[in-house]
Amino acid sequence: ASIFAAVEMAPRDPILGLNEAYNADTRSNKVNLGVGVYYNDNGKIPLLAAVKAAEEARLKNAPPRGYQPIEGLGAYNTAVQNLLFGAGNALAEAGRLVTAEALGGTGALKIGADFLKRLSPEATVYISDPSWENHRALFESAGFKVENYPYYDATTRGVNFAGMKAALLSYAPGSVIVLHACCHNPTGADLSDAQWAEVVEACRERGLVPFLDMAYQGFAEGIEADAVAVRAFAASGLQFFISSSFSKSFSLYGERVGALTIITSGKEESGRVLSQLKRVIRTNYSNPPIHGGAIVAAVLSDAGLRAQWEDELAGMRDRIRAMRTGLVEKLKARNVAQDFSFVVGQRGMFSYTGLTAAQVEKLKDEYGIYAVSTGRICLAALNNQNIDYVADAIAKVV
Ligand code: PMP
Repeated sequence: ASIFAAVEMAPRDPILGLNEAYNADTRSNKVNLGVGVYYNDNGKIPLLAAVKAAEEARLKNAPPRGYQPIEGLGAYNTAVQNLLFGAGNALAEAGRLVTAEALGGTGALKIGADFLKRLSPEATVYISDPSWENHRALFESAGFKVENYPYYDATTRGVNFAGMKAALLSYAPGSVIVLHACCHNPTGADLSDAQWAEVVEACRERGLVPFLDMAYQGFAEGIEADAVAVRAFAASGLQFFISSSFSKSFSLYGERVGALTIITSGKEESGRVLSQLKRVIRTNYSNPPIHGGAIVAAVLSDAGLRAQWEDELAGMRDRIRAMRTGLVEKLKARNVAQDFSFVVGQRGMFSYTGLTAAQVEKLKDEYGIYAVSTGRICLAALNNQNIDYVADAIAKVV
């Protein structure tokens, strides 16, 4: 018998499964709102001009393809820290930052999870209810028990902050709390600055281990404004983790560009933490790929390219906002009784629309419009060519 005879078929990834169904759909007016990718107004994944310029400059030199250090490129890691905490930040000065380049935000979460598992094998990991669909699987596959903390309140379409805070204050010291630093995926509902301050205090009071997932810096209000949670934790003196992803903000999805940053209590501790993190990396994939990180480092360290990138990032942010406003206005113009104005206030690429699973099913069957069964849609998949069609369809199914 085959050694694989007992291998069971794994369940399909819900979102990638949606993509497969979309690709197989032959309708020419089909729309995929299920993705987690930013498309431009022509429905294409953009190649940012700043990225293109940095890439051309790099390839002109035909750089050799040697191994990177285990923790990746130093200039890249410093650039990551500066985006998170601002240039010349006190944490770097104090030697409290350990950053390793990682394979996207997912890779950063994974090496963080593996490191944490060695550090506190018995800890429970708490993720928001709901959360990015890979959080649970990722921490479970690192060996952790994963539970939800209350987060989304469907009636207010905001955060159940009282529930969230009470839950945090009830967890065992050493529990790991995964927090979306901005642009909560999938709900688009973020905490206020004042609420972040309370979360920091709750983590301090209970001795929790915060793990901030920063996958959308610059997609809500801007680089600095979107770092408010990170900065609040930075000012607290606590130790914590951050996973960064540049998949969206640099439109470099397939290059796998991310980083894990661990905030320690001091320089000597940082040396020990880095040495262990390097062991985790070495036994997973040895060292990260060169190209994507080199491009991001080049853009962020050149004043002209950085300004160009910030403009392009603002362009993506503004276009998503325009699609939010546009969709709400178009639904209103179609006399939809249900009030969708909350969509304008949600942040990032996604909206929890409140569409039911049955309505989502109908959108797919009757209109070739694909969304996640939870009612999550990606606003960045709307454009001036498809928005009227989508508004027509939603008006008909609600
Ligand atoms: N965290 C969140 C909240 C995400 O939405 C995503 C991806 N969409 C990731 C992490 C993973 O990012 P990457 O694609 O860079 O691995």
